[in-house]
Amino acid sequence: MRIGVYPGSFDPFTIGHLDVLKSAAELFDKVYVAVLNNAGKSPVFSVEERVKMIDRVIETAGLESNCFSGTFGGLLVDYASSVSASHIIRGLRVVTDFEYEFQIDAVNRHLMDTITTVYFMANPSHSFLSSSNVKEIGRYGGSIEGLVPPCNEHFIRERLARQ
Ligand code: ADP
Repeated sequence: MRIGVYPGSFDPFTIGHLDVLKSAAELFDKVYVAVLNNAGKSPVFSVEERVKMIDRVIETAGLESNCFSGTFGGLLVDYASSVSASHIIRGLRVVTDFEYEFQIDAVNRHLMDTITTVYFMANPSHSFLSSSNVKEIGRYGGSIEGLVPPCNEHFIRERLARQ
């Protein structure tokens, strides 16, 4: 069975993340969307809220037969190996993503060379989209419609408006 882990902050999960997840779900028998539990990043949404939003997306997108949510707080390769994953899944938007991902890939290979990272190019119409953009737009009352999955839009909008 081919198992992949799609790790990230997902603070919050966007339509761009969903593009990557849908592509991964076609290639892998199982995909774990793993929320990084790192208070040091000062997330807006708690780990529980992010997991709940991801679960809702998985269900709404009809991906529940092979996509699952999870969390990890230690080394990603340890989490990946705990769910028997052979691959880590990441998305690439712009050149700066490449530089960052290149470094992480080298570190993960050093730690566990049995796990390979694969990358999906962003859908060009979502290549500008990041969780940070969504937070910035939402905080100032702009519309986040079309940037986050509709099933979570109301919750995200209400939360950001209160910030
Ligand atoms: P991290 O803090 O680990 O970078 P993110 O939640 O920002 O977590 O992103 C998780 C992964 O999803 C990263 O590989 C990132 O490049 C990718 N990603 C983020 N936004 C998009 C997008 N719009 N299109 C494709 N991939 C994306």
